[in-house]
Amino acid sequence: MPSEAQDSDARTPYQLPIPADALEEIVIAKAIPDDERIWVPQAENVSFRPLCLNRSQGYWMNLLRVRKSGVLSRHRHPQAVHGLVLKGRWHYLEHDWVAEEGGYVFEAPGETHTLVVPDDVEEMITMFQVNGVMLYVDPFGKTVGYEDVFTKIDMCREHYEKVGLGVDYVDQFVR
Ligand code: FE
Repeated sequence: MPSEAQDSDARTPYQLPIPADALEEIVIAKAIPDDERIWVPQAENVSFRPLCLNRSQGYWMNLLRVRKSGVLSRHRHPQAVHGLVLKGRWHYLEHDWVAEEGGYVFEAPGETHTLVVPDDVEEMITMFQVNGVMLYVDPFGKTVGYEDVFTKIDMCREHYEKVGLGVDYVDQFVR
Protein backbone atom coordinates (compact mmCIF):
# COMPACT_ATOMS: atom_id res chain seq x y z
CA MET A 1 0.00 0.00 0.00
CA PRO A 2 1.32 3.48 -0.82
CA SER A 3 1.64 5.92 2.00
CA GLU A 4 -0.94 8.67 2.29
CA ALA A 5 1.65 11.16 1.14
CA GLN A 6 2.08 9.27 -2.13
CA ASP A 7 -1.67 9.11 -2.72
CA SER A 8 -3.01 12.36 -1.40
CA ASP A 9 -4.60 13.52 -4.65
CA ALA A 10 -7.66 11.62 -5.87
CA ARG A 11 -6.85 12.82 -9.38
CA THR A 12 -3.51 11.09 -9.57
CA PRO A 13 -3.81 8.63 -12.45
CA TYR A 14 -2.70 5.03 -12.21
CA GLN A 15 1.08 5.08 -12.65
CA LEU A 16 1.80 1.67 -14.14
CA PRO A 17 1.27 0.28 -17.62
CA ILE A 18 -1.78 -1.92 -18.20
CA PRO A 19 -0.93 -5.61 -18.66
CA ALA A 20 0.92 -6.21 -21.90
CA ASP A 21 -1.58 -8.89 -22.91
CA ALA A 22 -4.68 -6.78 -22.28
CA LEU A 23 -6.83 -6.01 -25.30
CA GLU A 24 -7.28 -2.51 -26.62
CA GLU A 25 -10.36 -0.59 -25.58
CA ILE A 26 -13.09 0.31 -28.07
CA VAL A 27 -14.18 3.92 -28.20
CA ILE A 28 -16.98 4.87 -30.55
CA ALA A 29 -17.72 8.57 -30.69
CA LYS A 30 -21.11 8.18 -32.35
CA ALA A 31 -22.74 4.94 -31.33
CA ILE A 32 -25.76 5.95 -33.39
CA PRO A 33 -23.88 6.68 -36.60
CA ASP A 34 -24.46 9.38 -39.19
CA ASP A 35 -23.19 7.08 -41.93
CA GLU A 36 -26.06 4.80 -42.91
CA ARG A 37 -23.60 2.25 -44.31
CA ILE A 38 -22.57 1.29 -40.77
CA TRP A 39 -25.98 -0.31 -40.18
CA VAL A 40 -25.83 -3.94 -41.25
CA PRO A 41 -29.12 -5.27 -42.66
CA GLN A 42 -30.29 -8.54 -41.11
CA ALA A 43 -33.94 -8.82 -42.14
CA GLU A 44 -36.60 -6.66 -43.73
CA ASN A 45 -36.67 -3.36 -41.76
CA VAL A 46 -34.19 -4.80 -39.24
CA SER A 47 -30.52 -3.87 -39.02
CA PHE A 48 -27.77 -3.79 -36.41
CA ARG A 49 -24.76 -1.69 -35.68
CA PRO A 50 -21.84 -3.52 -34.05
CA LEU A 51 -20.27 -1.99 -30.93
CA CYS A 52 -18.25 -4.89 -29.53
CA LEU A 53 -18.05 -8.26 -31.24
CA ASN A 54 -16.42 -10.28 -28.51
CA ARG A 55 -15.10 -13.44 -30.11
CA SER A 56 -12.87 -14.17 -27.09
CA GLN A 57 -15.86 -14.46 -24.73
CA GLY A 58 -18.60 -15.29 -27.21
CA TYR A 59 -20.94 -12.33 -26.93
CA TRP A 60 -21.87 -9.30 -28.94
CA MET A 61 -22.94 -5.80 -28.03
CA ASN A 62 -24.89 -4.01 -30.72
CA LEU A 63 -27.56 -1.49 -31.49
CA LEU A 64 -30.60 -3.11 -33.03
CA ARG A 65 -32.70 -0.87 -35.25
CA VAL A 66 -36.16 -1.92 -36.31
CA ARG A 67 -38.19 0.31 -38.55
CA LYS A 68 -41.91 0.46 -39.04
CA SER A 69 -43.67 -2.87 -38.65
CA GLY A 70 -40.38 -4.78 -38.63
CA VAL A 71 -40.12 -8.11 -36.80
CA LEU A 72 -37.11 -9.77 -35.21
CA SER A 73 -37.96 -13.41 -35.79
CA ARG A 74 -38.87 -15.80 -32.98
CA HIS A 75 -35.74 -16.96 -31.16
CA ARG A 76 -34.50 -18.64 -28.00
CA HIS A 77 -31.73 -17.37 -25.72
CA PRO A 78 -29.78 -20.07 -23.86
CA GLN A 79 -27.91 -17.24 -22.13
CA ALA A 80 -28.83 -13.88 -20.66
CA VAL A 81 -29.49 -10.75 -22.70
CA HIS A 82 -29.36 -7.15 -21.52
CA GLY A 83 -31.19 -4.40 -23.39
CA LEU A 84 -31.38 -0.62 -23.09
CA VAL A 85 -33.97 1.16 -25.22
CA LEU A 86 -32.45 4.27 -26.79
CA LYS A 87 -35.30 5.20 -29.09
CA GLY A 88 -38.87 4.18 -29.79
CA ARG A 89 -40.86 1.34 -28.30
CA TRP A 90 -41.31 -2.39 -28.87
CA HIS A 91 -42.69 -5.51 -27.31
CA TYR A 92 -42.52 -9.26 -27.50
CA LEU A 93 -45.46 -11.29 -28.76
CA GLU A 94 -44.87 -13.58 -25.76
CA HIS A 95 -45.09 -10.89 -23.03
CA ASP A 96 -47.60 -8.21 -22.11
CA TRP A 97 -45.09 -5.53 -21.12
CA VAL A 98 -43.75 -2.84 -23.47
CA ALA A 99 -40.11 -1.73 -23.65
CA GLU A 100 -40.14 2.06 -23.79
CA GLU A 101 -37.48 4.61 -24.65
CA GLY A 102 -35.10 4.91 -21.68
CA GLY A 103 -36.07 1.50 -20.35
CA TYR A 104 -33.89 -1.49 -19.44
CA VAL A 105 -34.68 -5.16 -20.04
CA PHE A 106 -33.03 -8.31 -18.66
CA GLU A 107 -33.90 -11.45 -20.58
CA ALA A 108 -33.19 -14.62 -18.62
CA PRO A 109 -31.66 -17.77 -20.10
CA GLY A 110 -34.43 -19.97 -21.48
CA GLU A 111 -36.40 -17.07 -22.89
CA THR A 112 -38.00 -17.48 -26.33
CA HIS A 113 -39.59 -14.44 -27.93
CA THR A 114 -40.49 -12.49 -31.07
CA LEU A 115 -39.75 -8.77 -31.15
CA VAL A 116 -42.24 -6.50 -32.88
CA VAL A 117 -42.45 -2.75 -33.31
CA PRO A 118 -45.96 -1.29 -33.19
CA ASP A 119 -47.34 0.38 -36.32
CA ASP A 120 -47.27 3.86 -34.75
CA VAL A 121 -43.48 3.72 -34.12
CA GLU A 122 -41.34 4.77 -37.07
CA GLU A 123 -38.12 3.43 -35.62
CA MET A 124 -36.77 1.81 -32.49
CA ILE A 125 -33.13 1.55 -31.50
CA THR A 126 -32.08 -0.67 -28.60
CA MET A 127 -28.63 -1.59 -27.33
CA PHE A 128 -28.48 -5.32 -26.73
CA GLN A 129 -25.78 -7.46 -25.21
CA VAL A 130 -26.37 -10.99 -26.44
CA ASN A 131 -24.37 -13.86 -24.98
CA GLY A 132 -23.42 -17.08 -26.70
CA VAL A 133 -26.00 -17.80 -29.33
CA MET A 134 -29.53 -16.98 -30.33
CA LEU A 135 -31.46 -19.86 -31.81
CA TYR A 136 -34.16 -19.09 -34.33
CA VAL A 137 -37.02 -21.50 -33.69
CA ASP A 138 -40.40 -22.54 -35.02
CA PRO A 139 -43.46 -21.95 -32.78
CA PHE A 140 -42.72 -25.21 -30.95
CA GLY A 141 -39.05 -24.57 -30.27
CA LYS A 142 -37.47 -26.53 -33.10
CA THR A 143 -34.25 -24.77 -34.12
CA VAL A 144 -34.30 -23.44 -37.67
CA GLY A 145 -31.21 -21.23 -37.55
CA TYR A 146 -28.82 -19.44 -35.25
CA GLU A 147 -26.65 -16.40 -34.79
CA ASP A 148 -23.48 -16.07 -32.77
CA VAL A 149 -20.61 -13.62 -32.63
CA PHE A 150 -19.02 -15.28 -35.66
CA THR A 151 -22.10 -15.04 -37.88
CA LYS A 152 -22.38 -11.40 -36.80
CA ILE A 153 -18.75 -10.74 -37.78
CA ASP A 154 -19.34 -12.47 -41.13
CA MET A 155 -22.45 -10.40 -41.81
CA CYS A 156 -20.50 -7.22 -41.07
CA ARG A 157 -17.61 -8.21 -43.33
CA GLU A 158 -19.90 -8.99 -46.23
CA HIS A 159 -21.94 -5.82 -45.83
CA TYR A 160 -19.01 -3.46 -45.24
CA GLU A 161 -17.25 -4.79 -48.29
CA LYS A 162 -20.37 -4.33 -50.39
CA VAL A 163 -20.93 -0.71 -49.29
CA GLY A 164 -17.31 0.28 -49.79
CA LEU A 165 -16.16 0.53 -46.16
CA GLY A 166 -13.97 -2.49 -46.71
CA VAL A 167 -13.89 -6.02 -45.39
CA ASP A 168 -11.59 -4.89 -42.54
CA TYR A 169 -13.89 -2.16 -41.27
CA VAL A 170 -15.41 -4.51 -38.71
CA ASP A 171 -12.04 -5.30 -37.12
CA GLN A 172 -12.19 -2.22 -34.89
CA PHE A 173 -15.20 -3.75 -33.09
CA VAL A 174 -13.74 -7.24 -32.65
CA ARG A 175 -12.00 -8.31 -29.40
FE1 FE B 1 -33.99 -11.76 -28.06
